[in-house]
Amino acid sequence: MATVAKVAKVAKVALVTGGSRGIGAATAKQLAAAGYAVCINYLHNHAAAQQVVQDILAQGGQAIAIQADVAIESEVQRLFIELDQQLGRLDALVNNAGILLPQSRLEDLTAERINRLFNTNVCSYFLCCREAVLRMSTRHGGQGGAIVNVSSAASRLGSPNEYIDYAATKGAIDTLSKGLSLEVAEEGIRVNCVRPGFIDTDMHTDGGEPDRLQRVKANIPLKRGGEASEVAAAISFLLSDAASYITGSFLDVAGGR
Ligand code: NAP
Repeated sequence: MATVAKVAKVAKVALVTGGSRGIGAATAKQLAAAGYAVCINYLHNHAAAQQVVQDILAQGGQAIAIQADVAIESEVQRLFIELDQQLGRLDALVNNAGILLPQSRLEDLTAERINRLFNTNVCSYFLCCREAVLRMSTRHGGQGGAIVNVSSAASRLGSPNEYIDYAATKGAIDTLSKGLSLEVAEEGIRVNCVRPGFIDTDMHTDGGEPDRLQRVKANIPLKRGGEASEVAAAISFLLSDAASYITGSFLDVAGGR
C-alpha cells in the first residue's frame, strides 16, 4: 500500500505591515512568541526589519522580512505572493503601516499631502484586506482567519490644530473595519480594530514634535503615553482564539482618552 505523506502545517502565519518599527515591531515579536510564523513588511528601513527578524529567531521563533510599499497595488500583490511562497497560507493580518505628516491647520493642507496620507493610511489597508480575504475566506476556498486594523484615537478626537487629515484617514479605517467585519462574518474571518492613543514611537518625530507625549500626558487620564507593547498585546488578543466571538469591535488603547 502506498504511503501518503501528509505535510502538517506547523505554525499559523501572520503578516504585520509596517513591522520594522514601533507598534508593528512589538506586535511581530508578540505574535512570534505566541507561535506564529511572522512576515514583517517594511518600506525603507531594512536594518530595522532585519533586527526584528533576528530578535524573533534568537527566541526560537519563525520570521521573514519583505520590503514592499503597501500604498502601491502591484507591491501589495507581490508582497502576498512572496508571503504565500515563503510561509504558506495566511491566517492573520495586522494592517499597521501608516504615516503622519507635520502638524498643520486645514488652511495649509494640499491635495498632494491629503492624497499621500489617504494612499498610505487607507488605500493600503483596503488592498491588504482584499488580498487577505482572497486567501482566508471560505467563499474562496480558504479556511478562515483574523484581521486587525490599527486605527487611532484620532478617529474619535479629530486632532484639531495638529492633523485632521491623518485623523480622517483613521475614521475611514473604523468604517472599513465595521463594514468588512459584516461582509465576511459568515466566511470564517473576524475583523477588529485597535485604536491606540499617544504611543511612544518614532511617529511623533514625523509629525514634527518628538516630545509630543510630554506635552499631552497631563490630559491623558492615566497620565502617561503608552508603550508599543501595550498596543501589541491588544492586537495579539484580538487575533487569538481567546477572541473567537469578537468581530466588528473597537478596542481603545489610549489611557482612558
Ligand atoms: P512608526 O514607528 O512610525 O512605524 C511606521 C512603520 O510603518 C514602519 O515600520 C515603516 O517602515 C512602515 N511604513 C510606513 N509607510 C509604509 C509603506 N508605504 N509601506 C510599508 N510600510 C510602511 O509608527 P507607529 O507609531 O508604530 O504606528 C503604527 C500604526 O499605529 C500606524 O498606523 C499609526 O497611524 C498607528 N497609531 C500610532 C499612534 C502613536 O502614537 N504612535 C497612535 C495611534 C495610532 P520603515 O521602517 O521601513 O520606514
